[in-house]
Amino acid sequence: MPPRRVLIAGNWKMNGLRSALGEIEAIAAGYDDALKARADLLVCPPATLLIPAGERLAGSGVLLGGQNCHPSPGGAHTGGISAEMLQDAGACAVIVGHSERRTNLSESDAVVMAKVKAAWCRGLLPLVCVGETAEERDAGAAVEVVTRQVRQSVPDGCTAANMVIAYEPVWAIGTGRTPTPEDVAQIHGTIRRILKERFGAEADGMRILYGGSVKPDNAAVLLAVPDVDGALVGGASLKASDFLAIARATP
Ligand code: PEP
Repeated sequence: MPPRRVLIAGNWKMNGLRSALGEIEAIAAGYDDALKARADLLVCPPATLLIPAGERLAGSGVLLGGQNCHPSPGGAHTGGISAEMLQDAGACAVIVGHSERRTNLSESDAVVMAKVKAAWCRGLLPLVCVGETAEERDAGAAVEVVTRQVRQSVPDGCTAANMVIAYEPVWAIGTGRTPTPEDVAQIHGTIRRILKERFGAEADGMRILYGGSVKPDNAAVLLAVPDVDGALVGGASLKASDFLAIARATP
C-alpha cells in the first residue's frame, strides 16, 4: 500500500459570493510544485460558486468539491442537489454528514450512508464527517459515538481510493478550541481500527482527516499526530493565505 497522501480540504459552508472568487484564484496560484509534492488540495465552495470556482481552478491541480448531496439521483426534492449535478458542475468530491447537517437537519447515519452511495454512483469521493458533541465527550462517550457513526455511516465496499473520513469534534468546530494531540490520536486510531476490521489492508491507505478550528498556527501540531492524514478546514479556508499556510504545515 503506498503511503497516504495528505489531503487539505476547505469547507466554505454558506459563505462566499462571486466577489470571493479571487481567493479561489489565489489558492490555485499558490499550489506550486513544492506544495503539490506534499499534499492534495480540495476546495468546497457553496453550490452557487462551483462552476466559476472550477473555471478559476482549471489546470491548477486543486480539486473541487460539493458540501452535500441528496441521496436520490434526482426528482422532486426542492432545493436539493444531486451527486450528478455536482459532477456536472466539475466537482470530484463531496462532504457528507457534516455535524451542522446532522444537527440542524437531523441527518441520521442511514441518510449519510445513502449519500455516500449516491456519491459513488457518480464517481465522487465522499468525505464522511463524524465527531462527538461536548456533552458526549464530557460523558466519556467520544469513542463510542464515533465508533457508531463510522460503523453506521460508512457502507461496505470502501477502498483507499473511494473513502475519506473526517473526524470533527462538534465542540471544536468554529470555536477556536481543539482537542489535545493525544485525544486526536486516540480517535483517529479508533477509526483506523474500525476500518481495518471491515476493510482489511485497504484501510491502511484510507485517509482520515482532522477538522475543527484548524488554523495556520496549530496545523503543524495537528497534522503531525499519528493517523492524521490531512485536515478539513472551515473558517480558515476562506482566506487563501491561511488555507495555503495550513497546507504548507504538512510534515
Ligand atoms: C468545519 O466546519 O468543517 C470546520 C472544521 O470548521 P472550522 O475550521 O471553522 O472549525
